[in-house]
Amino acid sequence: MPIYRAPLDDYRFLFHELFELEKQKDLPGFAELSSDLVDDVLNNAAKFCEEVLQPINRSGDEEGCHFENGVVRTPKGLKEAYQAYCEAGWGGLSAPAEFGGADLPVMLTMAVSEMATSANQSFAMYPGLTSAAYAALIATGAPWMKEHIVPKMISGEWAGTMCLTEPGCGTDLRLMKTRAVEEPDGTYRMNGTKIFISGGDQDLTDNIIHMVIAKIPDENGQTHDDLSTVNFFMVPKFLVGEDGVVGARNGVQTGGIEKKMGIKAQATCVLNFDDAVAWRLGPKPVPGEKKKSMSAGMAGMFGMMNAARMGVGMQGIATGEVAYQNALAYVHERRVGRALSGPAEPDKPADLLIVHPDIKRMLLHCRSFVEGARALAMWTTLNMAVGRSGRPDADTAALLSDLMTPVIKAFFTDMGFEAANLAMQCYGGHGYIRDNGVEQFVRDGRINQIYEGANGVQAMDLVGRKLARKGGAAPIALLQTVGTWLAGNETDALAPFVKPVKRGLDTLQQATMWLAQHGLANPNDAGAAASDYLRLMGIVVVGWMWAEMAKLAQEKLAADPPNAPFYAGKLTAAKYWMERMIPECPMLLERISAGSATIMELD
Ligand SMILES: Cc1cc2nc3c(=O)[nH]c(=O)nc-3n(C[C@H](O)[C@H](O)[C@H](O)COP(=O)(O)OP(=O)(O)OC[C@H]3O[C@@H](n4cnc5c(N)ncnc54)[C@H](O)[C@@H]3O)c2cc1C
Repeated sequence: MPIYRAPLDDYRFLFHELFELEKQKDLPGFAELSSDLVDDVLNNAAKFCEEVLQPINRSGDEEGCHFENGVVRTPKGLKEAYQAYCEAGWGGLSAPAEFGGADLPVMLTMAVSEMATSANQSFAMYPGLTSAAYAALIATGAPWMKEHIVPKMISGEWAGTMCLTEPGCGTDLRLMKTRAVEEPDGTYRMNGTKIFISGGDQDLTDNIIHMVIAKIPDENGQTHDDLSTVNFFMVPKFLVGEDGVVGARNGVQTGGIEKKMGIKAQATCVLNFDDAVAWRLGPKPVPGEKKKSMSAGMAGMFGMMNAARMGVGMQGIATGEVAYQNALAYVHERRVGRALSGPAEPDKPADLLIVHPDIKRMLLHCRSFVEGARALAMWTTLNMAVGRSGRPDADTAALLSDLMTPVIKAFFTDMGFEAANLAMQCYGGHGYIRDNGVEQFVRDGRINQIYEGANGVQAMDLVGRKLARKGGAAPIALLQTVGTWLAGNETDALAPFVKPVKRGLDTLQQATMWLAQHGLANPNDAGAAASDYLRLMGIVVVGWMWAEMAKLAQEKLAADPPNAPFYAGKLTAAKYWMERMIPECPMLLERISAGSATIMELD
């Protein structure tokens, strides 16, 4: 059976040693933070994920969700686990205290969500989407929604969803058909169909608050294939009055659940909105500025999507972590062949799989990705907090975290899937069959590359929007930040880390220049380069994280003998990234600068 142990040592290393959270007193939510509190949260989350969520991961995959007579039932055990999750308060860890949350830094929530996803991705998505939904409601909702609805979502009594996708549109939301028409009382009536809605229906909560985008028809009753009248709405499954009283069932019906490759305990629903009562979110249209303010609530929607993108990036890490752990255990049990340098255990008929260089290569690939990516995710989340803090470095921090969001979503989920696949390879045929459970990680983790904006679209966002915004301020800030750190650490001891990252950074700079010169003249050149460029940026920035961690590990190795194996492991994983991932950079640059001509020849 699959195993899972939460990566507590690594989180302690990141929180207490690398980022020193306890010293970030001037950031919102950090003032009362002590290392004991951080450790308590991590330990309790680990225990919950290992003992409650992981044991129902396999059974949930085998049983799947049920849909009978318009009602969704989740597999055995999910309800009880969800109840326990809510009672422990996990859903409100970083939510504002005024609404019943614990107001702790988002970095802790990210850590908990990684653990929960490794243990049981299907389960973790129900509360994960609820957090994104209540954050959007806090940002854009009316006071009565914050008073009566948000606290119930934070406590987990009610859940939330994100409803964007329709049969005719996923990426291209201009094409959406769902309409919302205003009533004299200021509410709207919504009609249309949304598909692929995660947690769209379930039997875990009494009510579900759907966060929906839809078009408001123009004065002629028409909608158009553009975004000009797309608005953001709240649509409860059961109606809620402004006094908080729950009323009748709203006109939202579940049309079915999808049969799919993975995350089978997660109900992916078709939702039919049939004259559903909807509340428009965001400021009211300003007379005379109608067109501009028609889409006023969309900022809340984009905020929700950005939070969800970071969450999906964490799913990539989580997939890699749990797959790696299981493969590591397996290669210490299975005996196949002999070590190339001579038998490691001559008295046994064969050596353990772990002796083989190619097995070690696959495992180190997973590990150096997972730990490097985790550091980058935490650094980015910290930057988000700095960006909102008003500190002198706030603007740069906001630019950097904004730039990293598509990289984290796409690079981490590509690498997470790669890691799950390599972990399965370590099992040989015993990974492909179901008995050992590693194939579930491959199936579950595959969706991460697709939803929340498919990875190709994330790359287009990076290249098409984020690079050029504010005169290229974000890539300039990144190149300067990494370049300054490298220049300040050119010691002999750090040369094996600083020199490769510097080479990678030079290629990133050249690729950025190439895009600036060619992308505007020929947009196909930018489109053809986008995915390679995103991967290049991911490799370089994770490489920089590894250089920083290697510096710390070198210092601690001598100073902290009891933990020497931990720091030695860090140095090995750091060297792997430098020797095996950074060399991809010149190859990616060559591919980027090949342009789009050949690619566009495909008819
Ligand atoms: C299990 C599951 C759960 C989901 N959960 C939710 C949810 O909770 N809420 C929700 O709203 N949606 C959800 N989705 C939908 C998901 O977000 C979409 O499937 C995704 O955004 C892609 O849209 P699409 O499937 O329509 O693909 P399409 O938009 O048809 O795209 C197909 C492919 O073309 C690529 N592509 C599209 N446009 C471009 C372009 N301009 N340049 C380059 N490449 C392009 C895309 O990257 C993609 O690879 C879920 C989907 C699944 C399968």
